[in-house]
Amino acid sequence: MAAAWQDVVRDAAAVREAAAVAVDAALLAGVLMRTGEQPHASDVVNYAPFTLLPSAVPQDLFEQAYAVQQDFNLLVDAVSQNKEFLEQTLASTIKVDDFTARLFRIYTQVLEEGLAQTVFLGINRSDYMFDCGLDGTAALRQIEINTIAASFGGLTSRTADVHRLVLKVLGKTEEASHLLPNNPAKGLALGIAKAWELYGSQRAVVMFLVEEVQRNIFDQRCVENELWNRNIRVVRKRFRDVFEQGSLDASRRLYVDGQEVAVVYYREGYVPQVYDQQNWEARLLLERSRAVKCPDIATQLAGTKKVQQELSRPGTLEKLLPGRPEAVARIRATFAGLYSLDEGEEGDRIAATAIADPDRFVLKPQREGGGNNLYGEELREVLEKIKDSPERTSYILMDKIKPQPALNYLLRAHSPLQASQCISELGIFGVYVRQGQELVVNRAAGHLLRTKAIEHADGGVAAGVAVLDTPYLV
Ligand code: ADP
Ligand code: MG
Repeated sequence: MAAAWQDVVRDAAAVREAAAVAVDAALLAGVLMRTGEQPHASDVVNYAPFTLLPSAVPQDLFEQAYAVQQDFNLLVDAVSQNKEFLEQTLASTIKVDDFTARLFRIYTQVLEEGLAQTVFLGINRSDYMFDCGLDGTAALRQIEINTIAASFGGLTSRTADVHRLVLKVLGKTEEASHLLPNNPAKGLALGIAKAWELYGSQRAVVMFLVEEVQRNIFDQRCVENELWNRNIRVVRKRFRDVFEQGSLDASRRLYVDGQEVAVVYYREGYVPQVYDQQNWEARLLLERSRAVKCPDIATQLAGTKKVQQELSRPGTLEKLLPGRPEAVARIRATFAGLYSLDEGEEGDRIAATAIADPDRFVLKPQREGGGNNLYGEELREVLEKIKDSPERTSYILMDKIKPQPALNYLLRAHSPLQASQCISELGIFGVYVRQGQELVVNRAAGHLLRTKAIEHADGGVAAGVAVLDTPYLV
């Protein structure tokens, strides 16, 4: 990918001036985060990290990513309703991975009781990198699909304006006019609003299930405020609050602090550390309820790395999406090589290959949120250690994607301004709503570009590695 800004990126004076403008523009536009020092209040805030320059993204791959999003929505929804597939796929994983096992236990418990929930809301983000082939052409490769708490749809709605201004300051007025508008927060809110409406109780609220430490609150507020604009009441509660104040009535309507809840939108709940016994009980209460969970526990399980790996097996997509060969082809075209480490010959062989050539692969456990994957020497060491133990099956292997780096500046509070070789990850937000068996909403809701310096193998924005960016289509 040709770097679009070669002439300005080395001009130190111009970069310094543009960076000062950029930071103030970000603050004015609301590209904000609470600080590490004061994460519980908004008295002191800072800008969320972002790139000085928008990054080049091949237009055809960008369009391909949008074009496949409705297919991925259908796929996730289909997986979430397929008990047999989830059971078979996760059988080996839940023997060794306690977190997935506990989620799975709630899933089966809720099914046994019978679902009270009749309206389903999915908000996901499918993430991609641009794999650079030997001949220099780039291909769209899915990294993962996030089916719970996919974030930055709010803040990223505001980065295009910042980058438009930066380009103008750098004399790129024509290029500035090409940056696309983007508003995932609005699309997400439309989905939540539809689910709220179908739930069918004017006085019921939308509950954001939020973290104990809410540094990324402004991102969530963007979605929240869109709901208030539609006269839908929003409350913010933690698992703790649900444990203390939550209850179900006879028809399993959910009440928290006296208010009926129509939609539970999880921005928390995807890492094991947040769950103590009380929080597991709160999660179970929510899942048993009639409220629309975004996502329900089945859809969370549909987003595990193990499911992703099994979806890549020949014939699986065809079974999950019968009669939709075009959707299957579009989805499969984005898959990188994915490999099971289940016990047996297939797993033995790929484990040996990865130990011999670790730089070709990424080793992934069933975790979300960045910083959990293993690469290179570390991958080799870990795999060497667990290759003959059942623990191996809690991981999957994936081909490592190798994008072409480009020079940019990562703007972070309290960090020096310096050029870095960077790679980007494109996410497309998907929203769908299903009532019984009828899909009433299925759309792509906007995009997110995150960029990081190549020294970091892993990690997202919240993990402090990647920063917000805007695609510049080339
Ligand atoms: P998480 O659920 O922790 O976000 P991901 O699968 O998205 O897990 O991996 C985290 C980060 O690791 C990604 O944002 C990306 O930077 C890097 N990564 C993951 N898979 C690959 C891959 N196959 N090739 C190259 N980098 C990868
Ligand atoms: Mg990720």
